[in-house]
Amino acid sequence: MAVLGATGTVGQRFITLLGGHPWFELSAITTSEAKAGKRYGDIAAWHSAGDMPANVAEMKLQPTADDLDAEICFSALPSDAAEQWETALAKSGHHVFSNVKTHRMDEDVPLMIAEVNPEHMHALEVQRRKRGWSGSIVTNGNCSAIGFALAAAPLQKRFGIERAVVTTMQALSGAGYPGVASLDALDNVVPFIAEEEEKMQQETKKFLGTWDGKRFIDADFAFSAHCNRVSVRDGHTETVSVTLRGSPSPEAVQDAMREFRGRPQELKLPTAPERPIHVRDGRDRPQPILDRDTDHGMAAVVGRVREDAAMGIKYVVLTHNTIRGAAGASLLNAELLAAEGCLGN
Ligand code: NAP
Repeated sequence: MAVLGATGTVGQRFITLLGGHPWFELSAITTSEAKAGKRYGDIAAWHSAGDMPANVAEMKLQPTADDLDAEICFSALPSDAAEQWETALAKSGHHVFSNVKTHRMDEDVPLMIAEVNPEHMHALEVQRRKRGWSGSIVTNGNCSAIGFALAAAPLQKRFGIERAVVTTMQALSGAGYPGVASLDALDNVVPFIAEEEEKMQQETKKFLGTWDGKRFIDADFAFSAHCNRVSVRDGHTETVSVTLRGSPSPEAVQDAMREFRGRPQELKLPTAPERPIHVRDGRDRPQPILDRDTDHGMAAVVGRVREDAAMGIKYVVLTHNTIRGAAGASLLNAELLAAEGCLGN
């Protein structure tokens, strides 16, 4: 098992989540050329909670290359490095689980949330045949798109979505490390995140769409995203207004969310949350500092489900951006594909 981009925000989250993992063992960690060959403990500025795992501190960082000794590679690379290495690694037989935007919208690459669209994994048969490789690339979505789609999936499945509008309040860690300059972030809201609204709008339709055996078919509803950066460390909060077919009541919407389960729960995968969506009753929840670690940071936390005069239903959803929106989601995708025998050997 390799973590590509191991010194960064998402890379560190992978390292924490892989510590003591029952199926996967970390065998390689990569960095940019200039730092290759150094001990992780000597050069990585650890900014996650808890201590840097002692065994990882001793590991030597490698440059990213297509001959890594690891069957599965978790990619937390910047997009330019991902462009260079992800296809090269898949070509040389590695299974790449990527957090990067580079291949998310490729027509033969699954963009997966394990509970939401597990059937998209079958696109790998087409990917391998078309590209002539034995490896694979599976991607995660943008962290805000994952939060929206996870909570909206039971609504799409049970009622059908006609239209939706989301406004995000995204944490600083979503921009990586060191991310947004402190003088831009403190006491402020920045109403622009480059490419974020476009990514959210496109990726959500792929997540909530279908795989027909040959191609992905996007979900067909009108969707608009407003994306904002706020002065929160971890946890993306999103306010959602949605029109659902049949105008269900807020109680029916809550029931659909509470009852939602996916393959990871059926299979009891190691990183699966007990419940993918936790619906809270408190009138002022969810809040990032109180709720982002729910179910080990792997659950979407929903609150304030109520009637919306313009759209029908509105609610708030919170997800931990570096766990459910990145490393944890990728790890769950890998566990699902391994459990379903989709890794090809
Ligand atoms: P980050 O904190 O900037 O980390 C990226 C790391 O990659 C850096 O530490 C860099 O450090 C390393 N790197 C650069 N070139 C490399 C190469 N050729 N090989 C190996 N490592 C290399 O960014 P991040 O937030 O972790 O994000 C990583 C990726 O995940 C991005 O594509 C991002 O868009 C995506 N993502 C992030 C989040 C989030 O919440 N942060 C959520 C979803 C997706 P060194 O120079 O020390 O190697």
